[in-house]
Amino acid sequence: MICFKKFTLREIHLPLKEPFKISSGTETIRRIFLLQLFNADGSETWSECCAGALPNYSYETIDTAWLAIKNWCAPRVLHKTFDSPQELNQALRRDFRGHNMAKAALEMAGWAMAAQLENIPLAEKLGGERKKIATGISLGIQDTPIILAEKVQQALDEGYQKAKMKIKPGQDLEFIATVRREVGDNAPLMVDANNAYTLDQIDHLKKFDDFNLMMIEQPLAYDDIYLHSKLQPHFKTPICLDESIANLEKAKEMVALGSGRIINIKPGRLGGFAESIAIHDFCQENNIPVWCGGMLESGVGRAYNVALASLPNFTLPGDVSPSSRYWTQDVVSPEWTMDKNGMVTVPWDKPGLGIEIDIDRVEKLTVRKETLK
Ligand SMILES: [Mg+2]
Repeated sequence: MICFKKFTLREIHLPLKEPFKISSGTETIRRIFLLQLFNADGSETWSECCAGALPNYSYETIDTAWLAIKNWCAPRVLHKTFDSPQELNQALRRDFRGHNMAKAALEMAGWAMAAQLENIPLAEKLGGERKKIATGISLGIQDTPIILAEKVQQALDEGYQKAKMKIKPGQDLEFIATVRREVGDNAPLMVDANNAYTLDQIDHLKKFDDFNLMMIEQPLAYDDIYLHSKLQPHFKTPICLDESIANLEKAKEMVALGSGRIINIKPGRLGGFAESIAIHDFCQENNIPVWCGGMLESGVGRAYNVALASLPNFTLPGDVSPSSRYWTQDVVSPEWTMDKNGMVTVPWDKPGLGIEIDIDRVEKLTVRKETLK
């Protein structure tokens, strides 16, 4: 029985291995929101809210999620008894719009706790099958095309099975062309535009078809489905939607309108696993492959993504890179690793999340902490 009696919310500052560039500047640490959840039977689990420091992916941030969890999510869950994580999910959704990343932090913990109580791995609880997850890398915008090409080549040499390059107008065609020339015709490349284009740039976007990309992710507005349907038919490269797919209904719209051919499933964006699985199943019935994106999670969030990516229709490599890609030291042990073939192993041999939290390290990195009971 899921019955949480106490949550501890923590913000930790996890140092990044190398600074990463975002629109508002360069960051050297990642603000990470972790939750420790205590069940009435004495067991406990951890979860991670994937919201960022700034509202530049969605409107949610660590600070809004903290407020939403404290004021609106926790009262629906604390000391309430749920027979299943689906029931917990319903309690979080009733007359409560938005704040999916906040909801997901509790909903996904419900699944981890249920798996732990049943003494089965989280992947099994979700309906997963895969023993190993093929891994892709996501590379930010680089200073020059040749630097990007070198980074892509290095990632492919390390075993990564997909290289995703962030692009924007002015830093696109020349970058992609250089990489394609340097790494060869068959290297698995894709681009993510993060909403940087508009439909009137269609002639420019069509030139992307020359580079045999696996997909282009979210070229148009972050909440658009319709205008993407005006682009996809004129475009050989499959469009993958990320930001626009806020729920199952949006996935249905995408298929009905022909707005894209692939979906990037991020459980945080979708309010948790119940909606993620529903989209996974719908896509499977409609021959839409899916993959699991990343939100610069610590090893805690990674455990959730790895379990989800073990479902059968996650047929494209996910952004589930090893701990060492971003962190000098992760907050879990063992750290997540990738083998030389670019595969991350699903912890089928352990119940629940399948990781141990390095509590001393978490304690040292904690900058804000609040217990709700
Ligand atoms: Mg994306």
